[in-house]
Amino acid sequence: MFVRNAAYLLTALWLAAAAQAQPPLRLKTRASAANAQTAEAPQNTRTPGRSHWLVQFADPPDDARLMELYLRGAWPLSYVPDFALSLAANDDTPWDGLDILWISRLQPSEKISPLLTAASAADAAHSVVVEFYSDVDPNDARAIVNQAGLVIQENPDVLVHHLLVSGNDAQLLALAGWDEVAYIFPASASLVRGDPLHACAGALTSLGSVGQSVALVGDGWDGPGLGSAALQYVFGSISPKVPAEPAKAEIARALSEWSKYVQVSFTPGASAIANRTLSIFFASGAHGDGYPFDGPGGVLAHTFYPVPTNPEPVAADMHFDADDNWQLGADVDVFSIALHEAGHALGLGHSDNPNAVMYPYYRMHTALDQEDIAAIRSLYAAQNSDPGAPTPAPPTRPQPTPAPAPPLVPLALTVQSTPANTTATSLSLSGSVTGGSGAALVSWSTNFGFAGVATGSPAWTISSIPLNAGANLITLTARDSSGQQATQILTVTRQQPAQPTGPPTPNPPSPTPPSGPDTTPPSLTIASPGSTNVSTSAASITVSGTASDNVGVAKVTWSSSTGGSGTATGTANWSTPPIQLYIGATTIVIRASDPAGNTSWRSLVVTRR
Ligand SMILES: [Zn+2]
Ligand SMILES: [Zn+2]
Repeated sequence: MFVRNAAYLLTALWLAAAAQAQPPLRLKTRASAANAQTAEAPQNTRTPGRSHWLVQFADPPDDARLMELYLRGAWPLSYVPDFALSLAANDDTPWDGLDILWISRLQPSEKISPLLTAASAADAAHSVVVEFYSDVDPNDARAIVNQAGLVIQENPDVLVHHLLVSGNDAQLLALAGWDEVAYIFPASASLVRGDPLHACAGALTSLGSVGQSVALVGDGWDGPGLGSAALQYVFGSISPKVPAEPAKAEIARALSEWSKYVQVSFTPGASAIANRTLSIFFASGAHGDGYPFDGPGGVLAHTFYPVPTNPEPVAADMHFDADDNWQLGADVDVFSIALHEAGHALGLGHSDNPNAVMYPYYRMHTALDQEDIAAIRSLYAAQNSDPGAPTPAPPTRPQPTPAPAPPLVPLALTVQSTPANTTATSLSLSGSVTGGSGAALVSWSTNFGFAGVATGSPAWTISSIPLNAGANLITLTARDSSGQQATQILTVTRQQPAQPTGPPTPNPPSPTPPSGPDTTPPSLTIASPGSTNVSTSAASITVSGTASDNVGVAKVTWSSSTGGSGTATGTANWSTPPIQLYIGATTIVIRASDPAGNTSWRSLVVTRR
């Protein structure tokens, strides 16, 4: 991310970046400006006469040129490396006198992830995330999806400009024909299941955020080509929620995970403000860089891209929100988030591959995925000692084709048989892994959001997986050191204990608390406003409703996409204070929790006109 409120840095730093005659364009679907001077008009739009453009400059656009764009009604929305902007502008905008290298639009096929076009039969339905440009009204986004005949899968954890949708190739191509759609990429299984998730808010620059369509942000710390880099790191304060020394060790382990595959070294440094140094700390709220953290939930961390996209000393700095529920080896896992953020610190954008660490929705990881390894090797030289690295051909004997990798025994995961039905509130599992390379790590998650890591390998055990009433989908994943993985999914249904038989008692017994841990989440209803999609001209909104639980509702909390959060007044009948609204869309999420920590949520989108 770039320091938005430090305009002087923009000028200073970007002047330092050598202007090239033809800067590359680092989109996943377009690498250069080829045939860019003309652009077909969008097939469909909800704002006729105004649409989205891609504009590239020969060098970084300075503040004067940005101001001139604004004066002509052209709004920069996101930064597309190198030196390009995606912007919203009237179709008759005059583009003269701005030193523009070329201007174009993304064609529908360029808005679809290569992972989708490479996949399966054309008529098969894909679950996808649709990213809209950041100026698109969420109500328009929903209307577009509905008009395209597709169904939105609700999930309050998706980013405000993302929608979860399912459709076949033809339907997705038609959807991409809408001007408002920025990019379409595969949805992860966790998103489809509706697991509680955290999104990476992504990297920002002074010219806006960097979209999902961008693969790489710059050339990395080694400059153009595949070179090496020596970086240092310095720790600041660590969240009191985790023991400090183990947390630092986990972050250092996450950094060294990248060093296994490319020639980038991380060593402890002496000064947090030295060049090529990651200043790593946990902080609450505002912490001096213009990007205040938002308290529990929401944004977990942010990281600054390498120079020249960001200036020293902030380039590669990594900040964690101290108020989030940090843990070691369980969600929210310090290692997993640091592993993702380190990818940004090295210059990677977000991956479209749900298995990748760099996928924009975080999940538990124990190692980099093949996709991450390939991406980082497009920026830096492969590590010589890495057995997985392609062997360079001897200079005297060119090899026309690379030798195939030695066949591996495929990694396999075996789970000891389990009953399909149980009345127990938790389940223990054991099994073994075979094949693969090196020790494998087994992790598990359930469709109710529980997750953890098994102990032992190749024989492993999980002592307790919490079961909710009804069907529990348990996903077990084994991963080896080469990134190979094997998955098993079990369904275990937790039934209510059989009622004791006998003559009916004349007086019903007084209710007794259920035995075993309480795993029933509260039920939660929003009574006002009466719709989950509200439009208003007011500067704030109050949300109220009801909540109930088998044991009791401990609290009802709210958070908004504009950064506010707090606890509602009351529980059975609850009400929020007035929640601030800015012009445009605000997503508000209400969560109810019981004393055992079970939670449920409801969300609404409020658009201020
Ligand atoms: Zn990210
Ligand atoms: Zn920060």
